[in-house]
Amino acid sequence: MTVEGADWARRSLRALWHPCTQMKLHEDDPPLAIARAAGPWLYDFAGRGYLDAVASWWVNLFGHANPRIDAAIAAQMRELSHVMLAGFTHRPAVMLAERLAALAPPGLGHAFFASDGASATEIALKMSFHCWSRRGQRAKSRFARLGGGYHGETVGALGVTDVALFREAYAPLLHEGPVLPSPAARDGADPEAALDVALAALEALLERSAGELAALIVEPLVQGAGGMAMYAPRYLARARELTARHDVHLIADEIMTGFGRTGTMFACEQAAIAPDFLCLSKGITGGYLPLSCVLTTDRVFDTFYADGVAQAFLHSHSYTGNALACAAALAVLDIFEHDGVIAANRERASRWRMLARPLADHPRVRGLRQCGMIIAFEVGAAGPRFARRFASAALARGIVLRPIGDTVYFMPPYTVTDDEFAFLVERTLLAIDAA
Ligand SMILES: *Cc1c(COP(=O)(O)O)cnc(C)c1O
Repeated sequence: MTVEGADWARRSLRALWHPCTQMKLHEDDPPLAIARAAGPWLYDFAGRGYLDAVASWWVNLFGHANPRIDAAIAAQMRELSHVMLAGFTHRPAVMLAERLAALAPPGLGHAFFASDGASATEIALKMSFHCWSRRGQRAKSRFARLGGGYHGETVGALGVTDVALFREAYAPLLHEGPVLPSPAARDGADPEAALDVALAALEALLERSAGELAALIVEPLVQGAGGMAMYAPRYLARARELTARHDVHLIADEIMTGFGRTGTMFACEQAAIAPDFLCLSKGITGGYLPLSCVLTTDRVFDTFYADGVAQAFLHSHSYTGNALACAAALAVLDIFEHDGVIAANRERASRWRMLARPLADHPRVRGLRQCGMIIAFEVGAAGPRFARRFASAALARGIVLRPIGDTVYFMPPYTVTDDEFAFLVERTLLAIDAA
């Protein structure tokens, strides 16, 4: 690092409190100060490039400094940056709501905007509970979650997150609800069997306690923060059937899986289902600006449609439907449309599969798997603090990777070239040997 980069890192440790970080561990291993970024590359103050293989926490789809997104935000800024969305509206928010509804599974025609993923989870939870309570079913106040599920870290969202490390310290604050077995097979278990066990448990829970359940919340097809655990669409199809039959909402948290990450625009498409609530964020602005959205049905919307304010859905964020963020999201949807991104990604995904093959031959790599534009594997004999050691070894070799425990994953912007992807695989193999 240059003197300038080192100086920003030092000042950062004094002035900032970094997310999901034990600050003391930064004493010997300071954060990397990034000066600029372009395409899939982050650059430090010495001009050294690092391939952003985790898309800056899963948000970046079309590269940094993307000229089309840059231009859309700049143009929007000259017209309107922000206006509150209570009592006012604006073109980018309306256009985005209309276009999301047209792209999403059928029947999700009402968009409620917020600013980040966790807020989208909060909104879906509150809306679901409030909807049942408006219909006189006040006992329906609990939420079923999946083992290893992740839905954000605000107090309500953490209540339906099932990652022990994140929950433990805050347990007394959290809403308790039933935890169902994950449909994703782990450690080489049989995927079909795991899925059947998960479905049987869901069915039993619904038969027993549907009267007190507002919703089941799931990450469709890939449980991200829980270790990139993947499962087949069959679970979603059956879960939709069962929840509908038992009058329990289905919340599809596509904050990570949405916008093409699993190979289709939304993961729910692969099971041909429509949830009652679809939560979107992360890739929605291509990694530019914070924005999230919950799409829901006429049935839910109509439940709140009444004369009194007290009957309304009572929730707001200052930056709800920020115009710059909506303009970025519209530019992202334009790119999807004009570049035929979903079709192109099908080919890209199979090229990535071929390029990732050398990983399978490494003696310490197990469980190599792919779902669309996500590739993940475990590293055997990882040893203590593997994730940190591996991330440093990767960074020293010009790639940004942040393992979850012993799970290493690739989730780069869709725009990485085949050469860049091959570079990623080659450097990953070196980092495994070094860590
Ligand atoms: C990241 C994530 C969230 C939380 O989003 P934030 O913007 O980080 O609050 C929720 N659910 C899933 C599936 C996520 O991957």
